[in-house]
Amino acid sequence: MSATYNFCAGPAMLPAEVMQKAQKELLDWNGQGVSVMEVSHRSKEFIALTEQAEADIRELMAIPANYHVLFMHGGGRGQFAAVVNNFLGSKGKALYLVDGSWSSAAVDEAVKLAGTEQIDILNIVNKDNNINSISLPDLSAIDQDYRYVHYCPNETVDGIEIFEELNAPWPIVADMSSNIMSRKIDVSRYGLIYAGAQKNIGPSGLSIVIINDDLLALPQQPQASIMDYRLAVKHDSMYNTPPTFAWYLAAEVFKWLKSNGGVAAMEAINQQKAQLLYAFIDSCDFYESRVANANRSQMNVTFYLKDESLNEQFIRQAKEAGLVALKGHRSVGGMRASIYNAMPIEGVEALVNFMKQFAQRNA
Ligand code: PMP
Repeated sequence: MSATYNFCAGPAMLPAEVMQKAQKELLDWNGQGVSVMEVSHRSKEFIALTEQAEADIRELMAIPANYHVLFMHGGGRGQFAAVVNNFLGSKGKALYLVDGSWSSAAVDEAVKLAGTEQIDILNIVNKDNNINSISLPDLSAIDQDYRYVHYCPNETVDGIEIFEELNAPWPIVADMSSNIMSRKIDVSRYGLIYAGAQKNIGPSGLSIVIINDDLLALPQQPQASIMDYRLAVKHDSMYNTPPTFAWYLAAEVFKWLKSNGGVAAMEAINQQKAQLLYAFIDSCDFYESRVANANRSQMNVTFYLKDESLNEQFIRQAKEAGLVALKGHRSVGGMRASIYNAMPIEGVEALVNFMKQFAQRNA
């Protein structure tokens, strides 16, 4: 069988080496004769795994000592709620920047929990001639004492990424679910970073939270204990039983990243992969990108066939060629190739070849 390349936006493909190692160890982890799924999260072997995972992510992202790394439940949406409940109390206000579907969903949750009086919203997407672009506002001009400003630097559905640094006079909370560890960032610029694991880190069910200790002092609202950052810190992310298998796989992904040159190496190859695909889309009349050059996501490449009546045929033939999960999100249509860290450049080359041939056949 020839290779299958999985372009799913999430749960997304994981590195083949990690999956092979997990397969090998499935029934006998660490010489214990049982699976990692079957041991206590409080056993010394599992604790050693979590300590290594934390050390590795700290090294990979150069996380400063005054930040905690939490391994929590509830994916990205769980954090939409946790951020509000942990930081706003009954009076605090927050600013939400909207640059696409997920930041908009974060607003919905924040408004549901805190009400419109506590949540201010600022749209930062422009749509000109059907092309999306972002203009980051000068936030220092806003005279408000926000507890935090929330934004999503990579919009998974829309294929929009913000590469420019956001400057803000308040702590920045960033939803990096779909671009964490895809390129180097300066963690010290953020109050809190969170990410659902199922794109660049591991399977779903786990989310990573990187939090500046100063934010732990903010007043909170009554909330579910399992989403309480202070309890998570106090209990080393084990207030209740964590998703242990997802945590184990994340730990293996971190090892894989380290042995493949870390985030800097990922950034270089991710640029190359995205460049290859966008350059082809721009060079071929048959396809179009609807995102301005400066904001084209390196992780989620959205594109459209100019003749959209060929969409179904494109998806079907791509699948036959071993290129799966290319259908765009139902809310925006078109196509989406998610090319996270685990996607080898050969997958992108195979996609470009297929797109070229499909265009020739249907010109
Ligand atoms: N934020 C972003 C940027 C996402 O891409 C997603 C999921 N695709 C979410 C939040 C929601 O994550 P979950 O489904 O884990 O709640």
